Amino acid sequence: MTGGAGFIGSWYVRSVLSGEYQGTERAQVTVVDKLTYAGSLGNLPIGHPRLTVVRADICLKRRMRQLVRGQDAVVHMAAETHVDRSIGDASSFARTNVLGTQNVLESCRRAGVERVVCVSTDEVYGSISSGAWTEDDGLAPNSPYAASKAAADLMARAYYTTHRVPVMVTRCCNNYGPGQYPEKMVPLFITRLLAGKQVPLYGDGLNVREWLHVSDHCRAVHAVLEKGKAGEVYNIGSGTALANLELTRKLVRLCGASWDQVTYVADRKGHDGRYALDDGKIRQELGYRPRVDFDKGLAELVHWHGTNRHGSHAY
Ligand code: NAD
Repeated sequence: MTGGAGFIGSWYVRSVLSGEYQGTERAQVTVVDKLTYAGSLGNLPIGHPRLTVVRADICLKRRMRQLVRGQDAVVHMAAETHVDRSIGDASSFARTNVLGTQNVLESCRRAGVERVVCVSTDEVYGSISSGAWTEDDGLAPNSPYAASKAAADLMARAYYTTHRVPVMVTRCCNNYGPGQYPEKMVPLFITRLLAGKQVPLYGDGLNVREWLHVSDHCRAVHAVLEKGKAGEVYNIGSGTALANLELTRKLVRLCGASWDQVTYVADRKGHDGRYALDDGKIRQELGYRPRVDFDKGLAELVHWHGTNRHGSHAY
């Protein structure tokens, strides 16, 4: 499990170790994580008898070859993930997301790993004004983050086509849930609103994103790991699409804050207008459905932040 100390990765690891997914009750998990600012050991049940945590950079060739050897499956989530940072300096995005992914895939090829999932994002498709992207649509990423993820996503395709590495790619929409680093919109807004501070809303606030609870994303990744077909791509959507303005209204209300705490700021450079996924394939072929109702999940998240106000971003 690469990136297992991050927001989504650690949720996945905790779910596997707690027996949430049938058949993983005896699974041994090795987390490989560089522990950048976004990763935290506090996100993981350190000391769990079936968990090994290795602090390592996925770009290191010999280290990754050695770590991947003997693994039955690899779930690759390690990445630089914050779009705003990629606008400031994209070099670590190119390094980790592109070269790192190639190194993970090459290590899997050499070790003959039997199941590999590369976790990608809906942002690789770019913006869509109406309708929804299917897995057959072309990639047109607009931010350096999205471009680096698109390169990684296509590298996975190439390793399947060229080397028959049994890799599946997942493209998920925006996640929310406990333990996300508070630079991303939802935890940033909640922590600031609860503290009586201002929150910055980009542009006119009309950019539309689809939102999925992190637990649903992890169940979908696990379904792909177990039942997905090698070489295939699976969109993971939610059907819950919201403009940032609407989301902000909900957060202000749930936090008991005032609309005066919202400041409109200059739009993000190259800000995509709308993302929307057609996720009929994973629903029909793998029987996956999201379970968490958005309003309920968001209210629980606000409560979580209210009771973890002084903690780290750890769960
Ligand atoms: P995150 O930023 O919370 O965690 C990323 C993890 O990767 C961190 O633990 C970090 O230490 C680790 N990492 C970074 N560079 C590394 C390197 N060179 N070597 C080893 N480890 C490294 O990210 P997240 O939100 O949990 O996202 C996980 C994956 O899911 C990413 O691939 C991301 O692109 C994808 N994704 C995220 C979302 C979302 O809404 N958060 C949506 C769709 C897809």
